[in-house]
Amino acid sequence: MKAIRKFTVRAVLPERLSALEALAGNLRWSWHEPTRRLFERIDPTVWRAVDHDPIALLGEVSRERLDELAADDGYVGWANQLRDELTSYLEEPRWYQHLEGDKPARIAYFSPEFGIAATLPQYSGGLGILAGDHLKSASDLGIPLVAVGLFYKAGYFTQAISADGWQLESYPALDPDGLPLAVLRRPDRSPLQISIALPDGRALHARIWQAAVGRVRLLLLDTDIPENADDLRQITDRLYGGGGEHRLLQEILLGIGGVRAVLAWSELTRSEAPEVFHTNEGHAGFLGLERIAGLIGEGLSFSEALEVVRAGTVFTTHTPVPAGIDRFDAALITRYFSTDLLPGVQVDDVLALGAESYDGGTKDVFNMAVMGLRLAQRANGVSKLHGQVSRGMFSGLWPGFDPNDVPIGSVTNGVHAPTWTNPRLLELAEKTFGTSDTTRVDWSSEALSDLDLWSVRNAMRADLVEDARRRTAKSWRSQNPTGPVAAWTNEVLDPDVLTIGFARRVPTYKRLTLMLHDRDRLRALLTHPERPIQIVVAGKSHPADDEGKRLIQELVRFAAEPEIRGRLVFLPDYDIAMAQTLYPGTDVWLNNPLRPLEACGTSGMKAALNGVLNLSILDGWWDEFYDGENGWAIPSAEVTDPAERDRREAEAMYDLIEHEIAPRFYDRDHDGIPRTWMQSIRHTLRTLSPALSADRMVGEYVQALYVPAAAAEKALSADHFAGGRALSAWRAKVDAAWPGVSVAHVESGGMTSVPQVGDELHLRAHIHLGGLSADDVLVEAVYGRSGENDELTDVHRLALEPVAAQGTTPDAGKPTLFTGTVKLGRAGSFGYTVRVVPHNALMAAPADLGLIATA
Ligand SMILES: *Cc1c(COP(=O)(O)O)cnc(C)c1O
Repeated sequence: MKAIRKFTVRAVLPERLSALEALAGNLRWSWHEPTRRLFERIDPTVWRAVDHDPIALLGEVSRERLDELAADDGYVGWANQLRDELTSYLEEPRWYQHLEGDKPARIAYFSPEFGIAATLPQYSGGLGILAGDHLKSASDLGIPLVAVGLFYKAGYFTQAISADGWQLESYPALDPDGLPLAVLRRPDRSPLQISIALPDGRALHARIWQAAVGRVRLLLLDTDIPENADDLRQITDRLYGGGGEHRLLQEILLGIGGVRAVLAWSELTRSEAPEVFHTNEGHAGFLGLERIAGLIGEGLSFSEALEVVRAGTVFTTHTPVPAGIDRFDAALITRYFSTDLLPGVQVDDVLALGAESYDGGTKDVFNMAVMGLRLAQRANGVSKLHGQVSRGMFSGLWPGFDPNDVPIGSVTNGVHAPTWTNPRLLELAEKTFGTSDTTRVDWSSEALSDLDLWSVRNAMRADLVEDARRRTAKSWRSQNPTGPVAAWTNEVLDPDVLTIGFARRVPTYKRLTLMLHDRDRLRALLTHPERPIQIVVAGKSHPADDEGKRLIQELVRFAAEPEIRGRLVFLPDYDIAMAQTLYPGTDVWLNNPLRPLEACGTSGMKAALNGVLNLSILDGWWDEFYDGENGWAIPSAEVTDPAERDRREAEAMYDLIEHEIAPRFYDRDHDGIPRTWMQSIRHTLRTLSPALSADRMVGEYVQALYVPAAAAEKALSADHFAGGRALSAWRAKVDAAWPGVSVAHVESGGMTSVPQVGDELHLRAHIHLGGLSADDVLVEAVYGRSGENDELTDVHRLALEPVAAQGTTPDAGKPTLFTGTVKLGRAGSFGYTVRVVPHNALMAAPADLGLIATA
């Protein structure tokens, strides 16, 4: 096929409509309903045809219509007023500006994908949409965040389904000129570019696209420029498209190029340089190496620079599935890093950071998550359960420590409420409570009638049915290009039937086809004469994952049975636009992963914000938030045989639907309202909307991670990095001395012969300090309830105090005495132990150095 060169010509607006340009140029329109209504008014039909994309709309609409609007004082005034509102949104003090105390002047947030709006398809799924929501809430809260990613020419991929149910991928190229992006330029209009040294002596160049996401700037690096040879132009071709070297090049560009880009941007725009660097998953982990190289350039050694960089770096891990972690051949890393790529950084130091040098690790593999943890003083998982699973999964990096002491915390994900709350519900809140902030209203209030709320729920379901029919017809048409569209496509689903939604990427652990476990039983539920259910399914399989595609095919084939197709539909090409109609239109959101492999899951949260009840395995966020009234928990079967586990969990799911969910949904009063169901909806909206909001999540990142990271980084950087140098020297000293540190023996006394509550346990621990001083260590009694296998639960700690004079180095060979008193406050089994860990005020956690000595 001949390549057609395409580009987009942007509309020139009449002067009086200049406000529209400002409004279209900032992605805030994607979550600001009043602005969306302003655009819709231009031409509702075109607005729908261009999938709610203001730039495309302004390009499509006729000159006559624009002139007509320009002459309409009412419309012009409305547009100007919204532009003024945007200006104050961008400039006024918000939450962060009122936050007391020292706080970072800027935070750089790196992610391989960003899902902000359907019109900017630079995401594959949950990770990217979370990143988009993070930026939007950061903007709403006034957090000075700048975001860094890549611009992928074809995004992820567009999914179609063949007549026999197989996933087909296509990669339509995006035209950045038709997107809300602008090239970052110097004052002389020349584009600002960064470059990176490659092993073959060439340089890789990238330009930088910027997008305005409210107050947040998003910088996207793009190698598709004439300065690069063809092979290098392809580096940013697709998201997660290639493996091995292609992936490594993308990650080098993101991490190393990204730091260069963000520093160049700060200088160019005279904005504060970032004090904290946050990497959303390990893909951007090389950012730490680039920053180390920068500090080496200022005269620090590698280990000194490492201390400074770690202090200001936050790493969020997103997967408990090892296949979700990037690992490269060490040889490939060697090839790329034994060059001029990072001046002053030795390749062996790089390799050591990513080495799986722990029990069960693989030799000659470079692990990006492991490097991420070594380069960040602060790390977190994305739900409480995931934090716990991650502490276990990575505990090999902290040998000797109890998994609970592994320094990985958790911040449970959230979702951006203005993006994910249906406009009908926003309007209801506005009408009833006078505010469209659905996270702050009392949904249980009598000011809101069941009837009004139920009407909105019904309308949202009807919207979904209409959208599903349109998509089904479109998909049918792509499979059958000639002849009339089959009549049944316009009859799929029923706006009054209990609707269950299931949409997500299709890795095996998410078990897309669990619902097919007992087809007869599912068929009976779907076609029940009085209490039928219907199911809407969507999801993309990674292009290289044939197993995932087979699962989709299995489902599509089942859904093709004439008896079923009206009640179970698979909608191709799951994306943000589909999701925004899909979640609110369901009554029940289903999630049945293999526990604990779902790190958090966010689609169920978006559903809950719309009054949808969740039916889910107790995994990820649901493990934390299920309370018996906001939905249903599918119990996880504690069996090892996978087939048996599927069987039990599927049966439990069918039972819940048949005996609890459908009866409650169809239990109506004389007004046709399901009163008990309504109570659950109100309860869900009232309790979960604030808790699941991304504002809550981003606020936690600020308080628990960004603020302390900035403080730590400042402490080490002040006075020409005096703190960093001192910490590095101290670490070297402690590392060298540690083999000589041990607990010689522990004596206890003070208890009555039969210990009873209220007794005091006096501890005397004799510790060999191996030449360290007493202030270099923390000696702790660790105590709690003792279990069968010598493990402690309900753990408490008490710091024991040195008896020798503080700070003096005791005679070599002679142990130092540390003492303390534990009060026995509780009856029952009691156990304790004594441990020694390094101690320095500049460490973030006792396990920071990975050194421990126990009794
Ligand atoms: C929210 C969302 C996801 C992620 O959902 P999970 O529940 O985390 O799997 C994926 N794709 C789209 C389009 C979404 O909106």
